[in-house]
Amino acid sequence: MKKLLIATGNNDKLLEIKNYFNDFLTKYKISLFSQKDFPGINVIEDGKTIEENALKKAKEFQLYSKIPSLADDTGLFVEALNGEPGVYSARYSGENATYLDNINKLLFNMKGEKNRKAKFITVLIFYDGKNIIKSVGECDGIILEIMSGSLGFGYDPIFFVPEIKKTFSEMTLEEKNSISHRGKALFDMKKKIIKFYENYQ
Ligand code: IMP
Repeated sequence: MKKLLIATGNNDKLLEIKNYFNDFLTKYKISLFSQKDFPGINVIEDGKTIEENALKKAKEFQLYSKIPSLADDTGLFVEALNGEPGVYSARYSGENATYLDNINKLLFNMKGEKNRKAKFITVLIFYDGKNIIKSVGECDGIILEIMSGSLGFGYDPIFFVPEIKKTFSEMTLEEKNSISHRGKALFDMKKKIIKFYENYQ
């Protein structure tokens, strides 16, 4: 049976990845797994870069499950804050921080700041026990002064995409995936791993 494990316990990310990969999973009859199916795995994200973290997650999940694993690590890089929160995006306002805690800390640190340019970067790593396949996606945006929209997750309510004139929280899942850092990385990854699944028994 063809299998793919999404190496994340974050349901919001899982939803976006599933939505993007749906046709691909159906076409190649791939069964999808996630961290929920392997509750014994707990990867400490202590890398200095998002790439290090993605590689660590993909390798540890594959090692534990023996299933080809795809890991996503994402950071929000804000120009005026010298790239903060970056690799620390999940725990910007401390361990166990909620999405809202992190947004509030970012808005506080950006008070009065004129340069509001930021970018999301996603690194995806696929690891099958032998081969490492990497895809990167970026999305430029502006950090708003107040939240807008109710969809999405994380920093989505304050991340405005000028190209679409909406925050990520004002976009449907399909709309966000068509423009987002994760959507771009998934587009590239899908092309790269199709060959793998065509030959996979
Ligand atoms: P990690 O990749 O699991 O380390 O996640 C980093 C953090 O960045 C998450 O906890 C979210 O707060 C945030 N994040 C990741 N992806 C997105 C996104 O697509 N939109 C908004 N915030 C995100």
